Amino acid sequence: MNALSSSSAGPQQGLTDRLTRWARGLSGKAEAADDSPPEQRVRAGTAANREVVRRRKLYDDIGDFLFVHDLDLTPVNFSVALDYLTGTNIGIEKAVKAVMMERGQVTNGWIETVIAEQRADEITPEALAAMLDKVEESLSLFTGLMHESRSSAKDYGAALQEQAKDLASGGDAEAVLARLVNLTRSMVEKTRQVETQLRDNQKQTQALKSSLESARQAAEHDFLTGLPNRRAFEGALREELTLAREQGEPLAIGFCDIDHFKIINDTHGHDTGDRVLKFVAGLLTKISNDRCHVARHGGEEFVMLFRGKTAAEACALVDKVREDLAGRSLVNRVNGEKMEQVTFSAGVADVLEYEHPRAALRAADRALYLAKEHGRNRVYVAVDTD
Ligand code: GH3
Ligand code: MG
Ligand code: MG
Repeated sequence: MNALSSSSAGPQQGLTDRLTRWARGLSGKAEAADDSPPEQRVRAGTAANREVVRRRKLYDDIGDFLFVHDLDLTPVNFSVALDYLTGTNIGIEKAVKAVMMERGQVTNGWIETVIAEQRADEITPEALAAMLDKVEESLSLFTGLMHESRSSAKDYGAALQEQAKDLASGGDAEAVLARLVNLTRSMVEKTRQVETQLRDNQKQTQALKSSLESARQAAEHDFLTGLPNRRAFEGALREELTLAREQGEPLAIGFCDIDHFKIINDTHGHDTGDRVLKFVAGLLTKISNDRCHVARHGGEEFVMLFRGKTAAEACALVDKVREDLAGRSLVNRVNGEKMEQVTFSAGVADVLEYEHPRAALRAADRALYLAKEHGRNRVYVAVDTD
């Protein structure tokens, strides 16, 4: 749920975890034994008190939010209130701000829609459970076959030894030979059967592998544009952050938002809006490579990550794409009419200037907001580093 965390838990589970940690924090601090000197204890006590006061306020704010918007007391509504008020999920925060600006009110139905959109990218527990069932089935079949073929090899070995003993003790060589031939035939037959079953099992495993691969693809890609989604971007961010720190390279993050996209939808229809989205995604994809990641953050917003580039350099790169898009005359495929100019605005920030990448993303978002305020169709570099 969190824009920059790896958690894949649903809102309900995530909320339960967070509330549990929160409650533990409240009571744990009050009850914990303290062996520190008195003056430190006073300081620590003040900090702990401040923390309790902060949490108390958050608790009140969540209650107020739910009450003011007349929201039902559901885990999902609590989760959205918590995400919005703490700013831990920038997507939720922005969506709530936008709906409040537009309608002045958040409703139960709206929250359900927003959460459903967020969940659309996720693998459903049912699909995952079905896949796990198949893995389990395939594994137990394989284990069974292995067991069967090992025990028949053992039986064959024992029978061979038996016959060898007969031969050594002067048994009827011809009869022993006949039994050996029969034994070998049945072993060959058994091996053939096991081989066929193993081949079937292998085919099933292949099919399973490819459905797991497509599930992984679906889980990490946006269905409409084919770009990596937020979940994949978070993974890339973690990896690139480690690499940039290790190699002492700069790392820039960017937020890009199509200008007046609502008007494009309203004027030309949602399908044309979708095609514009895909088109912009395609232009942004052109700059992506193993050091530059572009992902759909949601709606008409994209996030970008540039390893080895400062915010100013990344800004110049994004600006080229902006210029390219702004210079095109797009045509509405439905009626052949020329569309008004399509543009985007963007904000870029240096990730390593901030304590946490989330703060850098916020700074990029603030720069984007300024770019919108100053007339859109422009790319700004974040200057604040708080
Ligand atoms: P601004 O320049 O301030 O960004 O204005 P805007 O109209 O682009 O921003 P706003 O947030 O008001 O509207 C975004 C619109 O994007 C509203 C929403 O319906 C639309 N949208 C979000 N996702 C999709 C999508 O997948 N396809 C289409 N066609 N529209 C989408
Ligand atoms: Mg937007
Ligand atoms: Mg927009």
